Amino acid sequence: MDIHSETIFDKIIAGEIPCHKVYEDEHVLVFLDIGPISPGHTLVIPKERKAFLHLLSDQAAEAVGRVLPRLCRAVMAATGAEAYNILQNNGSEAHQVVMHVHFHIIPRFGSRGLGIGWDTGSLESRDAEVLLEKMHAALAESAEGE
Ligand code: 5GP
Repeated sequence: MDIHSETIFDKIIAGEIPCHKVYEDEHVLVFLDIGPISPGHTLVIPKERKAFLHLLSDQAAEAVGRVLPRLCRAVMAATGAEAYNILQNNGSEAHQVVMHVHFHIIPRFGSRGLGIGWDTGSLESRDAEVLLEKMHAALAESAEGE
């Protein structure tokens, strides 16, 4: 799939498909999820058309990051939720269906909310060292490209 192809979220951004709009600015649109996991389930999306978080420009990422806590507060105030999850899926294997970056704000009410299977392992120090070496190299490379 072309990771830059148009999705239903582009049509929502363009106003061609209606949404229950919570917030909008130059770079960000926020609206209620059409299939809420719990009441108040909200989607925060950059207007920039990118399928995955790692492809997002710094400008779009900053714009999303700037408003995300504010939107969490609005969801909490509107629903009375005291707990919530932020979910951000990348890739169909990771449960992504709409190939446009989006952050879910999913309020938790008792057992109602995001179901999570947390299949933990343990971190061996040799594995950690190998990972750190590779991650530091990747970060240095991306810094060079800036
Ligand atoms: P994903 O699994 O890709 O992280 O989640 C996509 C989300 O977008 C789903 O929670 C789904 O309910 C929501 N969604 C898909 N199409 C529409 C739509 O047309 N309008 C709204 N408001 N939400 C949508």
